[in-house]
Amino acid sequence: MPTTRSDIAPVDPVKLDRLAEVAIKVGLQLQPGQDLFLTAPVAALPLVRRIAVHAYKAGAGLVTTQLSDEELTLARYRNAADASFDRAAGWLFEGMAKAFANNTARLAIVGDNPMLLAGEDAAKVSRASKAQSVAYQPALEKITGFDINWNIVAYPGPSWAKLVFPDDTEDAAVGKLADAIFAASRVDTADPVAAWAKHNAALQKRTAWLNGQRFAALHFTGPGTDLTVGLADNHEWQGGSSTAKNGITCNPNIPTEEVFTTPHARRVSGHVSSTKPLSYQGTLIDNIAVRFEEGRIVDAKASRGEQVLKKVLDTDDGARRLGEVALVPHSSPISKSGLLFFNTLFDENAACHIALGQCYSKCFLDGGSLTAEQIAAQGGNKSFIHIDWMIGSGKIDIDGVHADGRRVPVFRKGEWAS
Ligand code: ZN
Ligand code: ZN
Repeated sequence: MPTTRSDIAPVDPVKLDRLAEVAIKVGLQLQPGQDLFLTAPVAALPLVRRIAVHAYKAGAGLVTTQLSDEELTLARYRNAADASFDRAAGWLFEGMAKAFANNTARLAIVGDNPMLLAGEDAAKVSRASKAQSVAYQPALEKITGFDINWNIVAYPGPSWAKLVFPDDTEDAAVGKLADAIFAASRVDTADPVAAWAKHNAALQKRTAWLNGQRFAALHFTGPGTDLTVGLADNHEWQGGSSTAKNGITCNPNIPTEEVFTTPHARRVSGHVSSTKPLSYQGTLIDNIAVRFEEGRIVDAKASRGEQVLKKVLDTDDGARRLGEVALVPHSSPISKSGLLFFNTLFDENAACHIALGQCYSKCFLDGGSLTAEQIAAQGGNKSFIHIDWMIGSGKIDIDGVHADGRRVPVFRKGEWAS
């Protein structure tokens, strides 16, 4: 029987099931008997349910889910007493840390409106986020330190979809965002697990080449940009799949297009301009232009959101220094989509980027066994924040610079030079 578009669920159930399968088999490689802790917005329930099915089919011990809701979040901002904004559910994060210490895998589904808190009191938002960061620390360390296999995937929540496609009806926007997520997550092919194996191999070829070169620095040039990013001593390039300390190889981010490593916190100099707006806690920061001296941002401007940017840079000393540099070709599928997702999981995979703040210990040779002091001595940065922003485009050239000054083309006009 013929049917109109409005009779069809805007999210394709076949591709949704494939995304769930990819999250379990590629994102986590969940092992028989392993428990899974899952967080998701209520809007993502259709995906949560398919993930639970694939998790149990893979032999999961127990799947535990924690749901969040935009209305519940707003209820706090609009009704809670002032003291509430310095509170966080520490007991919950301690429980998470215990679960991870017991080899529980971690999966996060993103799907809420990234601008949800845009109209709320900025001071309350920042206090609540700080209280949350401090309480989350013991659990987050086990994730960023790769003690366990973990993964993030996305679901097209209606308020997020309307932000990306403001001119469409809600159903149409959800349908379009779903298609964009499915394409970027490589589940629009018949065998997504095989597609991911191929993609991981291609990323691994790039990291192997970069690790073989052992560049002392990368030199970025382009409109508004002449930036030398010194790389940390014993840095290691990462990309695609990663083997966690529990021995399980996972793909932490789905989608992912980047290869990335640790810059030297004290060896960055020159100036750089952003090539895409940065969406940060409800504020859009656009046309960022900063200047570095000896690794530290000494001058920062933005055409929009400059006050927020300056506040971010004053978070702590490490907030003015780099913790990540990442290479993404201009022809990446997410860049080609031409969409601004307002979400780092997607937007950082559209262009080369740098991140202010905390570095990844994983991006050092033998990183898992280094102490915080050793990481700092090799140039790794430390901060409460980690904020990625895009500096790549089709006009950016990058040279790799060896310690003796010899230069090797890495990117030309936004693409890999070879
Ligand atoms: Zn990145
Ligand atoms: Zn990052």
